[in-house]
Amino acid sequence: MDQPLIKMPARVAYFSMEIGLNPLMPTYAGGLGVLAGDTIRSAADLEVPMVGVTLLHRRGYFYQRLDRKGWQSEEAVAWSVGDFAEPLEPQVSVEIDGRTVQVRAWRYQVKGMSGHTVPVYLLDTTLAENSPWDQTITDSLYGGDLYYRLCQEMVLGFGGFALLRALGDGDIFRFHLNEGHAALLVLALIEEALGTRPQNGDVPPDVIERVREQCVFTTHTPVPAGHDQFPADLAHRVLGSRRCDLVQACQHQGALNMTLLALRGSRFVNGVAMRHGEVSHSLYPGYPIHSITNGVHAVTWAAPSFQNLYDRHLPDWRYDQLSLRYAISIPGQEIWAAHREAKLALVDEVNRETNAGFDRDVLTVGFARRATAYKRGMLVFHDIERLQRLAKEVGAIQFVFAGKAHPQDQVGKEMIYRLHEMRGLLSVAYLANYDMTLARLLCAGVDVWLNTPLPPMEASGTSGMKAAMNGVPSLSVLDGWWVEGHIEGITGWSIGEKVEVCPTPSSDLDACHAAALYDKLERQVMPCFYQHREGFIEIMKHAIAINGAFFNTQRMVGQYLRNAYRLNGQSSHGL
Ligand SMILES: *Cc1c(COP(=O)(O)O)cnc(C)c1O
Repeated sequence: MDQPLIKMPARVAYFSMEIGLNPLMPTYAGGLGVLAGDTIRSAADLEVPMVGVTLLHRRGYFYQRLDRKGWQSEEAVAWSVGDFAEPLEPQVSVEIDGRTVQVRAWRYQVKGMSGHTVPVYLLDTTLAENSPWDQTITDSLYGGDLYYRLCQEMVLGFGGFALLRALGDGDIFRFHLNEGHAALLVLALIEEALGTRPQNGDVPPDVIERVREQCVFTTHTPVPAGHDQFPADLAHRVLGSRRCDLVQACQHQGALNMTLLALRGSRFVNGVAMRHGEVSHSLYPGYPIHSITNGVHAVTWAAPSFQNLYDRHLPDWRYDQLSLRYAISIPGQEIWAAHREAKLALVDEVNRETNAGFDRDVLTVGFARRATAYKRGMLVFHDIERLQRLAKEVGAIQFVFAGKAHPQDQVGKEMIYRLHEMRGLLSVAYLANYDMTLARLLCAGVDVWLNTPLPPMEASGTSGMKAAMNGVPSLSVLDGWWVEGHIEGITGWSIGEKVEVCPTPSSDLDACHAAALYDKLERQVMPCFYQHREGFIEIMKHAIAINGAFFNTQRMVGQYLRNAYRLNGQSSHGL
């Protein structure tokens, strides 16, 4: 293609605390970072003039080790930065807690389908000029205490902004704040807009307006506790009193609330699924919050066997993901053959890694996500006897799990341990160190993708979309994206009802959802898989045609272009 698909006057700068750029670079922890990476990959495909900004994360999130009983321990990830990215010349400085911290960047180039590149700047404070402690600021993703985190956010917001200016990327017309971690960017823009004007604490309305015109904010967390907040005294110490005065209005209950700062400073705010937009609006009434539902990057998440299948039947799919709609015409036996190939790759990996003795012909259910309470990884084992009875009387079933618990999440760690205990009772395997490489294998290789979050805690969820990209149907609670993607018996199955009829205490809700899950397995999923294979393949086709064609980042980036990035309501691009 010679002509850019979209013509835009200037660039979008996408700021995110984590970005999953390459499976071999530990610059992401989970869903947020993978989404950021998929966004940038699709922006590169669509030739959107974009730059990305994040931290280098020299020690990564962590490498997960599991002992024989399933207790997690964490190790810093060792990786060689220079193998992936190139160091850039300019250095900028950020005032943090009265110190001057030097920041430089490494550039990683994301190349799109037609060769267009989106540069991503990975900020790094490991410089001889900095104190030993300051050299560690950009080391550990979500590590350390609140002070450490706020220093990281200073580097991301102020350092990232100064670096873009130093690189001469002065033609940026939109700043996209991916989650509240990047909110200090708003403050950096306020300072720039104020220039040399005398300050008396309040930000003049025309300055706020000028900043708002430039910012777009995506919120990802439906629970109040998930929003970044810093005690006022800590904020005062790290930001300094002059800067702190400028964000007085963003204090909430004695803390600097990053979501409020981002909300105040942005012209367009969105949640990451229809339902999440509504929930966010109720958390922050008074702010209009739109919804742009997440997606996944199709080429990244389609297994090799599905890539071949699509190349043969839907030759345009790599640059036009709407063509996945025509998966409806792919012969069923070819879908099954591609799935079989992906499944064998997974079963072999499970057996090699865990010695679980998985059987290639047995219904395989997958569940891989952050090990944390609301995801309810143990829900499927609520009634072990019933599950054992199902396995004996209705059809064999095997479960594969993966996921990391945050180092400070004791409940999450306990969950991993308890999942390991299930191995003696049912056919269960747990794969260690869940990352993008493993997600690729898992989402494509299982027969059914299970999801059991406690509603309304799942903002969107994206692993079910990766599964759909490979024809794998979801069996999921109606929360996050599944509210939109679910058509019963067509794209997969629900657990429980759309309008929650279950009792409210969460223990009762667990029992209610578990019973609904077993009913669905017993009456729908297992009979369909074992006795109506053709019907099962029809569901696989619809997962691709209906969900794969929509829940991708090509559609999502198009929506950001049209609805969020546009200039004063004039849509200047043709997508
Ligand atoms: C896709 C992905 C996630 C996010 O999955 P959810 O469904 O949102 O929980 C997390 N971690 C990795 C490694 C992924 O690839």
